Amino acid sequence: MKRMFNPNNGSNKRVCFSEDTKPDSSFSDDSIPPHHFHLGQDVYAAVTYFATMVQVHLRLYKRDGNNRLFPTKRGVCFSPMLWQSFVNQIEQINSSSSVEETILIKDSLMISTVFIENIPNIIFQRYFKKKDYSKKFVPGTCVLSENNWLELQRVHKNITESVMRLTFDRMLRNLLLSEASKIMPSAVVNTNASEVELVLTTSLIKLLCDYLGNSIADVFDCYGCAQQYSNQLGHECITMDYETRIRFYGDLALFTIDFEQLIKDFIQRNIQMLNYLNSTFVNKWDMLSIFDNAKKMYIASDPNRLY
Ligand SMILES: [Zn+2]
Repeated sequence: MKRMFNPNNGSNKRVCFSEDTKPDSSFSDDSIPPHHFHLGQDVYAAVTYFATMVQVHLRLYKRDGNNRLFPTKRGVCFSPMLWQSFVNQIEQINSSSSVEETILIKDSLMISTVFIENIPNIIFQRYFKKKDYSKKFVPGTCVLSENNWLELQRVHKNITESVMRLTFDRMLRNLLLSEASKIMPSAVVNTNASEVELVLTTSLIKLLCDYLGNSIADVFDCYGCAQQYSNQLGHECITMDYETRIRFYGDLALFTIDFEQLIKDFIQRNIQMLNYLNSTFVNKWDMLSIFDNAKKMYIASDPNRLY
């Protein structure tokens, strides 16, 4: 049988994670898209919003015939929660130490320092645990050189900022609009629009603050609890003030929130004002400032606060 030339053959090595409106995820060196971070050579970190999910990728890119970079399958992908769990340990991973090390994060990410001809490489692999507790590795490994790694350590805060931005600007807005469109407003309230805006904003801040508080309690890692100290003063879960909690656990807690449930609760609480939740209103809502206010409200709710 004659072999047919298939023009698509070259493209099936590509990984498709284009943003929902962009058909192609390739780019040229002089037009690196937003939320992409060059780590050196052809390795990039990219934060994407696709199919209602925000994800962080560490990935090797290749060049096509037009010298445009496109993502390959050689890479790993993090949920925002896994990303932040990794970031919280990033300082502890020392690429310049002379021992080969392996650390496991959230029992789904393995990071190993491996020396290849005396040069350290940092290898990222995703896995899941099988029923017999053995590890099953997910295809796709990302190998960072020491320079890639140092650059990742340098820009990790900017990557988290991108995750934050896409979570609030894209995911949360889309969830709001899609959830609101499922419910027909039963009564159309005609109140002063700025009054409604204030009510809805306050309600979302309050709800986000409650979810954030519960989420911080979930991710809180108390040494005293782990060691079962009987002296309460040995427990950070009791002694640590809320401002410090936000600093240490705020981002991780935020990315652990079940936003779908949060939006459902929000819609239920404000069902009589649903006719105001249209795209014009939702798109001009300042989600990042809502989150900032939720953090402030959480800090102010500290029972041990002295002022
Ligand atoms: Zn404790």
